[in-house]
Amino acid sequence: MAHEEVGKSAAQAKLVIRNIGLLLSGDLAQPILDADTVVCAGERIVAVGKEKDVDVSGATITIDAKGTALAPGLIDSHVHPVCGDWTPRQNQLGWIDSYLHGGVTTMISAGEVHTPGRPKDVVGLKAMAIFAQRAFHAFRPGGVKVYAGAPVIEHGMVEDDFKELAAAGVKILGEVGLGSVKDGMTARQMVGWARKYGIQSTIHTGGPSIPGSSLIDKDMVLETDADVIGHVNGGHTALPDDQITALCERSTRALEIVHNGNERAGLLALHTARELRQMRRVILGTDSPAGSGAQPLGIIRMISLLASLGGIPAELAVCCATGNTARMRALNCGLIEPGREASFVLMDKAQHSAGKDMLDSIQKGDLPGIGMVVIDGAVSIQRSRNTPPAARVPEVVRA
Ligand SMILES: [Zn+2]
Repeated sequence: MAHEEVGKSAAQAKLVIRNIGLLLSGDLAQPILDADTVVCAGERIVAVGKEKDVDVSGATITIDAKGTALAPGLIDSHVHPVCGDWTPRQNQLGWIDSYLHGGVTTMISAGEVHTPGRPKDVVGLKAMAIFAQRAFHAFRPGGVKVYAGAPVIEHGMVEDDFKELAAAGVKILGEVGLGSVKDGMTARQMVGWARKYGIQSTIHTGGPSIPGSSLIDKDMVLETDADVIGHVNGGHTALPDDQITALCERSTRALEIVHNGNERAGLLALHTARELRQMRRVILGTDSPAGSGAQPLGIIRMISLLASLGGIPAELAVCCATGNTARMRALNCGLIEPGREASFVLMDKAQHSAGKDMLDSIQKGDLPGIGMVVIDGAVSIQRSRNTPPAARVPEVVRA
């Protein structure tokens, strides 16, 4: 009930963002839109176009973008949350809020595996998944949506367990391979049960991440056939090159490239997907918090990596962190079009970047400066405390 009431009051708000200098759609097919204004009602986009062509009357909030770029809020396809805005991995508080300052508005759990004393018996793992789903649904640091409650499959699970999890609201599995199931045949069966009840799956790919984790090679990945080939570039230890190209060629599933993986292997996966004309499969994550820490700027660093060293246009790299992920994961965010979630990141080139504009600065390997983040039609933050300062920042002109 409480949730419906929140939605109802938000539905009365009308947000107009005008004077957008560059509109990045998140859609590979048309990554730049010829538009300067976005209109939102409540939590949804209702119009995108030139200011003269859209109805901007009756706005309850107006943002002057000051000629900066607007993109869909970034999606981190691979995080390991635990509880609240705390991670025991490097014992940090406030990491999710810090990622918001890196433009991330949506996060997807690949398993709450860092939970101290994580239960591995079937009843216990189901209880933990349901708890995490509920807790993160209700708790949104800075407004960030954390899709959590991602159980790691263990031996002994039966079809009814997946049915029960789905009925309880669980929609994703944690990384296959982080539990006791290490053989493709069992994993494939459980992933199939999950899929039957609408639960999406992901699999760990590559060498062990930390002591206690183990190698998952291309044969296990192909046999399991999870919906997402999690960190195809390893987390950190990557598979040999021929196995990575085989995964690109022989599977149709999402190819997730992560910050906390092998950068060279990530670029290999990117190039292979591009040659196959399957860029739509490329999605980005951080695989954090992890041994190498929490990365508040991880997703924009990945965008910069793909553009500057991977040689793809910066506006396409943005799609890998937005529209591609939304489509691969069936989320209603990540694209600038009517009906989608009104979650945006407004950016400009960083002060003193050698790039001539924001896209050029990313192409040259710099990070953009974030000037504002909007989630569900409401301003979550103004100038980021974490990115290099943006040359220009948007302004709320009427609240
Ligand atoms: Zn992993």
